[in-house]
Amino acid sequence: MSSCEKEVVKIGKQLDKMISADDQVNAMDLLQSLKDLPITLEILQKTRIGMSVNSLRKQSKHDEVINLAKQLIKGWKKLLPAQGDKKKAEDSDRSSPSSQVSGSGDGNGQDRSFPAPPTNDSVREKCRSMLCNALKVPVEGIEDTSDFQDAEELAGIIEDCIFTEFTDTNMKYKNKVRSRVMNLKDVKNPGLRHQVLTGQIKPEKIAVMSAEEMASDELKEVRKEQTKEAIREHQMAQTGGTKTDLLQCGKCKKRNCTYNQVQTRSADEPMTTFVYCNECGNRWKFC
Ligand SMILES: [Zn+2]
Repeated sequence: MSSCEKEVVKIGKQLDKMISADDQVNAMDLLQSLKDLPITLEILQKTRIGMSVNSLRKQSKHDEVINLAKQLIKGWKKLLPAQGDKKKAEDSDRSSPSSQVSGSGDGNGQDRSFPAPPTNDSVREKCRSMLCNALKVPVEGIEDTSDFQDAEELAGIIEDCIFTEFTDTNMKYKNKVRSRVMNLKDVKNPGLRHQVLTGQIKPEKIAVMSAEEMASDELKEVRKEQTKEAIREHQMAQTGGTKTDLLQCGKCKKRNCTYNQVQTRSADEPMTTFVYCNECGNRWKFC
């Protein structure tokens, strides 16, 4: 594997993990890195990075990200065999480079690159059937399932991706399958199941998603609030505040801190003190 190919694979994995696609800065960084790499047709075909970029393009809400992703895909298309080439005639061939780069243009998941090969392994077959059953749990509020992909086929691809990652049916493999099953059949999280069934989340992607990424919207909302709170604390600690040499930083042991006192809870409770170390950036709070 060339170093460029390795880099592309690494970036692809990071892109695939960025399911929420609201991490604009990170997305721009990754796309820019791809732009700077000498990517060849061979690398495109091997890594299928085009699909990752394309799915990011579809999910992103940021024009900057969308435009750069489009640019990349456009550039890569130029690497493909010229129009009128014999390949063009075989356009229905799912594994042709053109379908790989253009990715899931129609969003219907017609670009699925491979049906998972059957296994002779009872553990793997069992895992596939667990995933399949989880996908078959009815999606509340959805009557029309005509745009749903085949649950069995999806389950096969998901399992195959997980198996490829661990190359074994060990504990890690089983845990990964189990966490997908739990999240997919979760009655409180029908959105995830629906997105996988309709191809908005590719089977290759659900296979690598973190628990965080699979969480229901409700849970994500709670976490977002927590993040906001953390950012607010951070900002308060940096802007304004009172400089002091009375407080010592636990990290760098220097006495150059800024603190803010904030009424975070009800008025009859003590103030919270946010401290920021001007030397090393360490921050902490105490009541
Ligand atoms: Zn410090």
